[in-house]
Amino acid sequence: MSSYALPRLLLERLAAADSVVVFTGAGMSAESGVPTFRGAEGIWSRFKPEELATMDAFLRNPQLVWEWYTHRRAIIATVQPNAGHRAVVALEKLIPRVAVVTQNIDNLHRRAGSTVVHELHGNIERNYCVTCGTPHDIGPGKTSAGVPRCASCGGLVRPDVVWFGEMLPDDEWDAAVRAASGADVCLSVGTSGVVYPAASIPAIARKAGALHADVNPEPGPLSETADVFIKGLAGAVLPDLVTRLEELRARPNITSPEEGH
Ligand SMILES: [Zn+2]
Repeated sequence: MSSYALPRLLLERLAAADSVVVFTGAGMSAESGVPTFRGAEGIWSRFKPEELATMDAFLRNPQLVWEWYTHRRAIIATVQPNAGHRAVVALEKLIPRVAVVTQNIDNLHRRAGSTVVHELHGNIERNYCVTCGTPHDIGPGKTSAGVPRCASCGGLVRPDVVWFGEMLPDDEWDAAVRAASGADVCLSVGTSGVVYPAASIPAIARKAGALHADVNPEPGPLSETADVFIKGLAGAVLPDLVTRLEELRARPNITSPEEGH
């Protein structure tokens, strides 16, 4: 038995929606086995992310920070998108416009097949030059033991992720706000809702008239303000949502069987 129920209000709004924004966080990735990089992991347990994921740390010891990201990339390369990621892709067949806004840097939404993904905190598979900004492609599945140098200017190459103290990328943020402002439904999934400004995406959607549903194994700040809270894992709840929407589409009067009698 499921420990949650899918509210009729959410199903009806999704069935009628032209546009949905799906806002995801670390919980979505955790269901694929992506660690938070805050636990005990060999030599890296000596460091806090706040001590490595900063421009200061990178400029002080580029090799150390690069090796940490190489370690993280190696782990991410071994995991796969989960049933939750795949359900978000399936929504694209049921709803005209589906945009993913993610705080995750692991590229799993794109690997699953989502076509519109706004990455608020960057993407660990990309890199760029700290001096001139030119993207630097290491190549899929490849790693570089040492810190690569920019082919254009010889500058240090860093991961294309948002570090502590850095602004979100303007273009991704603007696109995310546009998607949220135009959404009929906002689904927040596996996010604690404590990292700002990213966490304001559901509030932006609600203010513009969207229904906000929060899907999370545990309640948090977002579930308190959501119109609907569904306590559960993305990999269970989202496939159920897709199945129910497919049923609604096949039999549109399924939610009001008493009508017409
Ligand atoms: Zn350069």
